Amino acid sequence: MKYTSTRDKTISILPSQAIIQGISKDGGLFVPKTIPKIDNLMELTEMDYRELAYLIMSKFFTDLEPSLLREAINEAYGEKFSHREIVNLVKVKDRYILELFHGPTYAFKDMALSILPHLLRIALKTNNVNKEVVILTATSGDTGKAALEGFADVEGIKIVVFFPEKGVSQIQKLQMITQEGENTFVVGIEGNFDDAQTGVKTIFNDIKFKEIMDKHGYILSSANSINVGRLIPQIVYYFYGYLNLLKQGEIGEGEKINIVVPTGNFGNILAAYYGKMMGLPVNRLICASNENNVLSDFFNRGVYDRRRELILTSSPSMDILISSNLERLLFYILNEDDGAVKDKMEGLSKNGFYRIENINLDDFYGDYSREEEVTNTIKDVFNHDGYLMDPHTAVAYSVYDKYRLRTKDDTKTIIAATASPFKFGKKVADSIGLNTYEKDEFQILKELEDRTGIKVPEGIASLREKKVKHNNYCRKEDMKKILCKFLKVGEAFD
Ligand SMILES: *Cc1c(COP(=O)(O)O)cnc(C)c1O
Repeated sequence: MKYTSTRDKTISILPSQAIIQGISKDGGLFVPKTIPKIDNLMELTEMDYRELAYLIMSKFFTDLEPSLLREAINEAYGEKFSHREIVNLVKVKDRYILELFHGPTYAFKDMALSILPHLLRIALKTNNVNKEVVILTATSGDTGKAALEGFADVEGIKIVVFFPEKGVSQIQKLQMITQEGENTFVVGIEGNFDDAQTGVKTIFNDIKFKEIMDKHGYILSSANSINVGRLIPQIVYYFYGYLNLLKQGEIGEGEKINIVVPTGNFGNILAAYYGKMMGLPVNRLICASNENNVLSDFFNRGVYDRRRELILTSSPSMDILISSNLERLLFYILNEDDGAVKDKMEGLSKNGFYRIENINLDDFYGDYSREEEVTNTIKDVFNHDGYLMDPHTAVAYSVYDKYRLRTKDDTKTIIAATASPFKFGKKVADSIGLNTYEKDEFQILKELEDRTGIKVPEGIASLREKKVKHNNYCRKEDMKKILCKFLKVGEAFD
């Protein structure tokens, strides 16, 4: 298996190299040159999560030593997850909620970030790289903590996380700034997630800066969802969810399902699209946005237009106007025309938008929900069905409700649940009618626990006692500078 770039198909590199590099030097994203197929799903229903993960990942990461890959999977998807089956499928009314938040940081990012450090370690070994790796990560809240947790104290790796100081929830922030581990660095930046992400991309694309780093024995890599080491592990749970329904007899062999995904950077839903290309019977992928509805506009009008103000919502991990992973979908729908992808992406960066014409986007359905709809959805689903959702999941649920009303499509449907409601306690508590006025976050969580009978997860409750370890703040222009400070690189640069 080789990987190429969405912007330059002459590039051809091994899976391990794609994991190490993170992003292609032409600015494009790595994509596998062929899509492996998985058939005979009926025969896979007895597999546990790890076996299935191995089956899928081994098809994409062909140059990683099989025994090491297996070990990595066992290590990643083990006791760190509070659910024995790693993910949990809950039926609410006639829909199936696929809970992806039972990992160490209570968001779906753990599904991939618990294995990425292992993949990177093996990839470095495979390529005899002896440099120290510096993971640069921009986060809208959940990636940062999941990456810190995954990479903390991993030898030969340093991790630097940039988060928008004012764009994450109180719990998300506490989770990050209390992170332990000598190799971890956390910085709040002035600006929003797109600023953080653009800043990180700029660093990656700065050849001179990379040379300086190289001279000091550092190699830069990314833990953002553009890395194939994150994308591929995310395919696994869609198959797992489907196989679970098959096993329980909820669906028949070959029966198609819809998948609804609360979307930000387009990584999670893209993994479902890969699943479909690999043979997972999928009818429609429903892309749910919050009020930052660039993607919803894209699927409805064929125009991707980021020329608008970013709105801070109660689903901060989706407060994004530049959905990086959409570039990979573009690559496929433009018939793998690398020149055309390059044109569109350059258009986006120069003009703030691009348009696609005469392209069939029927695999997808895009819509968005407003804050008030999110609030009502959390309330109604809790009151009527006793199921408590976080605001991201509620965006998906609400968009699906509207989809059902509009299309009357009663295809069986999986909704991806991406975070624990306790990560966004205030919003959830407000939505179900608790009085949160002038109460501190932990008091709110306790009341939420009392009202719902669902225990506050240990890792969140314990944040209260944790020491703040990181107290860094910088302007987006100064990200390089602060990085150099962390790495004790003293060279002048602009
Ligand atoms: C990151 C995140 C999302 C968005 O996922 P993408 O892969 O960026 O589309 C949705 N919900 C939660 C809770 C997240 O952390």
